[in-house]
This record gives sequence, structure tokens and C-alpha cells, in this order.
Amino acid sequence: MKILGIETSCDETAAAIVEDGRTVLSNAIYSQIAKHRPYGGVVPEIASRNHVAKLPGIIEEALAEAGESFDSIDAIACTYGPGLASSLLIGFAAAKTLAQRLGKPLIGVNHHEGHLHSVFMKDDAPAEDEVFPMLGLMVSGGDSSLVLMQGPGQYELLGSTIDDAAGEALDKAAAVLGLGYPGGPIIQKTAEGGNPKAIRFPRGLEQSDRGKWVYKYDRDLCFSFSGLKTSLLTHVKNLDHTPEGDELCNIAASYQEAVCDALVIRVERALGRFPIKSFCCAGGVSLNKVLREKLTALSAKTVVPLLLCPPAYCTDNAAMIAGVACEKARLGKLGAEPNDVNPNLRLADWV
Ligand code: ATP
Ligand code: MG
Ligand code: FE
Repeated sequence: MKILGIETSCDETAAAIVEDGRTVLSNAIYSQIAKHRPYGGVVPEIASRNHVAKLPGIIEEALAEAGESFDSIDAIACTYGPGLASSLLIGFAAAKTLAQRLGKPLIGVNHHEGHLHSVFMKDDAPAEDEVFPMLGLMVSGGDSSLVLMQGPGQYELLGSTIDDAAGEALDKAAAVLGLGYPGGPIIQKTAEGGNPKAIRFPRGLEQSDRGKWVYKYDRDLCFSFSGLKTSLLTHVKNLDHTPEGDELCNIAASYQEAVCDALVIRVERALGRFPIKSFCCAGGVSLNKVLREKLTALSAKTVVPLLLCPPAYCTDNAAMIAGVACEKARLGKLGAEPNDVNPNLRLADWV
């Protein structure tokens, strides 16, 4: 089964063709980063206008690269949330129109589910019966969550961020330090020469608070990054100069260390609490070198296998969307076609 995936939830305009869930035949992406950089973050109207301008060409590119045509694909998959409403609507309108015109099914996909599925998009990905139940750490620009997965489409959200997402914390730190946008890769680069122990930034909800609840989540498995951001702001304000050179590298390294530690502490807690066969990490922040090293060390220590998202699929792409849709079709879990986008969509079990 070959599926055309369309992704426009934020500022990447993307289309891809995926066969049988894991084989990526093409993965076309137009990144709008340069358009948003002057504003220090994503400007929704600029994002949607660029989706309108670029999506048709990106879909053509995905088909051509895969050697496919509209006739040869079996279904259209599209992200319908979460994300920016005005961005989601562009991809969704295109996908719905194509599906209707071609007489093919439209499969709505949760963007965060796409991120989690992307850990399987590599040649040597293990079989499902080897990895489930699996603990997932989904760390992106808009959310950070711990998810217990019993199988494809069977999700239990264990914890989530109570304020900023991990990616957002890195993006905001880079802005405070005058390093530019997006922050994750720049903080990583700046941190390379720095000492991660130079400054002790807070790890957010560090002490164990097991049994205290935030909404329906155990506070102990939730994340918080707003205190860390304030701590950086205070640190910089208290300096009587703009940090540069080694001092800047030390700040970046210490901040990155705090973000990664806060994530890994929760993963370690959850690993000890649930009967799982493996754990995985996906989303844009999973590109981070230090986070990958810390999770790899945790995997060695606990002897629980770790699946890391292939770097090519960590940030937003449409292959992960088509991949989820293939799995839904394979397991006969297509459900009703979505009627509309949902910017606040949460992870939920497939019906
Ligand atoms: P969401 O998926 O919640 O809608 P998003 O799609 O904007 O949010 P992603 O594309 O998954 O998020 O990831 C983007 C985030 O990843 C940004 O916050 C960016 O700073 C971060 N990021 C990218 N590369 C790295 C890196 N090397 N280290 C840390 N963070 C990174
Ligand atoms: Mg983006
Ligand atoms: Fe994303």
C-alpha cells in the first residue's frame, strides 16, 4: 500500500510517499525557517501563505521522486492536528480536495503520533512484537510528553509539560542569548566548547512528587521548563555584560544539560515503573546530541533497548504522517474521515 502524506502543521511544507508504513519512497520538504528567522519565531500568517505557495510543487516533487502518480497511490494522509490552525487548514484543504477528486480515502493523522512512528522508519527497525509495550519520549517544539504504548495506536499519556515544551525552552534560550532561531541546533553548536557543569540551572519538578496529580497525570512524570527559562534570564540580567566566548559556551552547555537532564530523569522514573520492552525518543529535540548520549547511557544502564528516531525524520516531515496512515490501514483502524482540523488534538487510541 502506497500513501501520499501531507504535512503543514507549522512551518514545514511537506509531502511524501511511503509504502507499507516504513519504506520511504520520497520525502519532499520545503523548510520556511529562513522566512521566519527575522521575526525570531514562526509567524502564522507567513507560514500559511508559504504553504499555499509551495504545497502544490512539493506534492509534485514527492510523486516524481517516488516515480508515482496520483493514480498509483492508494490513499491520501494528512496531519489534522495539533499545530497552528491556519497552517493545518492549508494542507487539510489540499488533502481533502485531492481525496475527493481522486476518489481515494482521506486518512487524518495526529502530528505527534507521526513523530512517535518515525522511530520505525529505518531499514533495521525491529518487529513490533519485539518492542511493545514501549515507553515513548516525544520532545518537539510544541510539546513534551511521556507516552506508554501497548502497540500501534494504543497510547496512554503518562505525563506532559505543564508549561513550555523542551524545544520551546531551547528556542527561548537562544533568543535570550541573542543566538538566533531556531534555538535547538544553535544552543547545541554553542554548547560544544562549553562546560555543562559551569552553572547549575534548575531541572524543573526535580524532586519526586509521586502521587500528586496535574490534571490526570502523575506530577512526577510531568515536565516544566518555565522556571529554567526564568533562571537563565535572571542569570544573564545579573551579569554586567553580554556573555560571549567561553562564558557564552558555558551558559549554553549548562542550559542544554538542564533540559536534557530534566527529560532523562522522567524517562528513568517511568522505565522503573511500567513493564515495557523498549523505549524510544522522537521529535525535533531528539536530534540533540547530548540527549541522545544520555538516553543511550540510560539504555545501557537499565538494559532496556532504545529506539532513536533517524535524524532525517526528527523534525517535521510528511513521511511520518504517511507512515502512521499505512499502519492504520494495515490494522483496519481507519475510522471516520476527519471533517476538520483540530489545533489542540491530543494523542488518543485508534478506534
Ligand atoms: P510540534 O511537533 O509539537 O508541533 P514542532 O513541529 O515545531 O512542534 P519539531 O519539528 O518536532 O517541533 O521540532 C522543532 C524543535 O526541535 C525546535 O524547538 C528546535 O529548536 C528543536 N531542535 C531542532 N534541532 C535540535 C537539536 N539539535 N537540539 C535540540 N533541539 C533541536
Ligand atoms: Mg518547524
Ligand atoms: Fe513536529
